[in-house]
Amino acid sequence: MKNIQLYKNTVFYILVLIMIPITTQAQQTCTVPPHDNVADGTSVYASGLCNQARVDHWWGVFDMRRQDWDNGFGYYDPCNLDLPLARTFAALYLLTYSAEDYATNTGDYSGNALRWAYPYTANNTGRLQALCYKPGSTPGQWAGWAYGSRVELYIPYFYSFDVATRAGTLLHEARHNGGKSHNGGSGCPRAASCDTNWDYQGSNMYEVLYLWWFAVDGTRTTSAIRNMARNRARSVQNTAFNTNPGFNI
Ligand SMILES: [Zn+2]
Repeated sequence: MKNIQLYKNTVFYILVLIMIPITTQAQQTCTVPPHDNVADGTSVYASGLCNQARVDHWWGVFDMRRQDWDNGFGYYDPCNLDLPLARTFAALYLLTYSAEDYATNTGDYSGNALRWAYPYTANNTGRLQALCYKPGSTPGQWAGWAYGSRVELYIPYFYSFDVATRAGTLLHEARHNGGKSHNGGSGCPRAASCDTNWDYQGSNMYEVLYLWWFAVDGTRTTSAIRNMARNRARSVQNTAFNTNPGFNI
């Protein structure tokens, strides 16, 4: 299984309910749930993501298509932090630029995970798509799903995850498309999307490694967002491995 499951202990942000209908071509319909762009770190990247050259770069690298991001997902309003597209760009900004000496081309894998996470994600995701929920599943059950050559992101990804977790999730899904499925069955505390151990170097290991580095050494961010990354890294370490790696993150 190649997926991230949404857990009930994920932070819920209580603010004004903004009712903006989102529909996809077929039968799916959803609305923008309550969220807090300050509390979840998104607003820090407002100006950084709203840049034509950067948007053009990500749009091309992730094979993004209008039909995957229109119908309320943000294609016509790419800087609107309340819509899924800009919330994804915020995560991509974090992923792309958080190393002090960030990689300036997607073929550069040198340095630590803080630096190579973006090139790795750029080269292994394939087509990046937005939907309300995974077709055939219960809405809200999944945050994302990797299909081998494309990745779908769903409402819980856009609105229940803070910006650091969204960035780590993009790397996680890219690792699946890079050839690593979860190999731990339901044998970890969260009982889904489990990897056996750290040495498997699966999606959970990549996610924790990146967020840990970001918590320690991330730049062009805030201490609050670094703390979000640390909390997510700890959570994944403690719930997503059959054998807890046991690091002091
Ligand atoms: Zn996964």
